Amino acid sequence: MAQKTLPFAKQKISDIIKKYPTPFHIYDEKAIRQNARSFLKSFGMLEGFRQFFAVKANPNPYIIKILKQEGMGVDCSSLPELEIAERLGFKGEDIMFSSNDTPAGEFVKARKLGAIINLDDISHIDFLEQSAGIPDLICFRYNPGLARKGNDIIGKPEEAKYGLTREQIIEAYKIAKSKGAKRFGMHTMVISNELNEDYFIETARMMFELAVEVNRKTGIRIEFVNLGGGIGIPYKPEQEPVSYERISKGVKDAYNDIIVRNKLNPIRIFTECGRVITGPYGYLITKVRHIKHIYRNYVGTDASMANLMRPGMYGAYHHITVLGKENAAKNHIYDVTGSLCENNDKFAVQRKLPEIAPGDILVIHEAGAHGHAMGFNYNGKLRSAELLLRSDGTVKQIRRAETMEDYFATLDFKGLKGFD
Ligand SMILES: *Cc1c(COP(=O)(O)O)cnc(C)c1O
Repeated sequence: MAQKTLPFAKQKISDIIKKYPTPFHIYDEKAIRQNARSFLKSFGMLEGFRQFFAVKANPNPYIIKILKQEGMGVDCSSLPELEIAERLGFKGEDIMFSSNDTPAGEFVKARKLGAIINLDDISHIDFLEQSAGIPDLICFRYNPGLARKGNDIIGKPEEAKYGLTREQIIEAYKIAKSKGAKRFGMHTMVISNELNEDYFIETARMMFELAVEVNRKTGIRIEFVNLGGGIGIPYKPEQEPVSYERISKGVKDAYNDIIVRNKLNPIRIFTECGRVITGPYGYLITKVRHIKHIYRNYVGTDASMANLMRPGMYGAYHHITVLGKENAAKNHIYDVTGSLCENNDKFAVQRKLPEIAPGDILVIHEAGAHGHAMGFNYNGKLRSAELLLRSDGTVKQIRRAETMEDYFATLDFKGLKGFD
């Protein structure tokens, strides 16, 4: 079983807590940079490779600035995400706009920024034309339906709301071309949190074959294929991280096999990964408030599902370390909970852990993507702070914790005076 290591010891966290009370997320800058370099190096062997970080996974501008410095673009799906990209100085084709059920205003903003617009439906060609105009470069999202199996998080492609069918996508390129588009990309995302490298290679193969079909049926040469995100991370100690090299080599082979053989090269290869880029390098730090013994033993923490929704939402496993008890025997069984009035507000169910006492500090692992980002205010819970453990060992707060004033900011209590 792989050991889950931490970039800090108990003393460091105890010192940080004196200034920034729990709960908070803390990200490891050094590890994020190292991983980004390794990712970009491995995939760099692919034709014209570009990775666009999926902003929704971790929309903190400090994290995204780090990734920008390492050479990534951004993948946005809403107006605020486009705004983050703009404020960070991303320009034009540094930005991929992969949205669905898109409002007109978002297409207008994406066009203004010169972002690569990825359409989720055939009807969006007219919608885009009327709202923002048809750009030179246009991309369509493909949904392979029954041709591919999905997985638990993203669901089966034929039941997924995303993308165009095979028949539609051919038609869509023809329509876009007739309306003046001159450059064309192709996108898909059929799996999420997948650890099997072969899935990505199969996806690439499927997309390359589609690029050949589009060329045969429409004469259009696809300029890039975006393979989406979805690379998984080892949440469980017994799981292994994916090999970037293996995926990259497999995609390259498929490319030579299909694209080069059909003389459609060069086609650039894009990805828009989020989870694998920051997920393993963020931690939710929480303090134990209460220990409760009823039919089961409960550890009540000062964090909740509002800080990390994945266990409650997907039944997802997140590893937990009790600081200072790293080597103690795991001879107790606990449900580790938050304080929401929802029984699925649990970070762990029937988990073997060392004996825990009030005041203990827990580290919840792999909280760096789809963690803080999914935070919410249900039950009057406030979103926690985000801290960055810098490469030089110092700590910077990169988002403060919400206050009660933030929570009430959208309400008008004064208006209650005349409201009888
Ligand atoms: C969520 C999402 C991603 C990122 O997925 P990860 O699992 O975080 O890699 C990329 N593209 C689209 C369109 C998405 O919806």
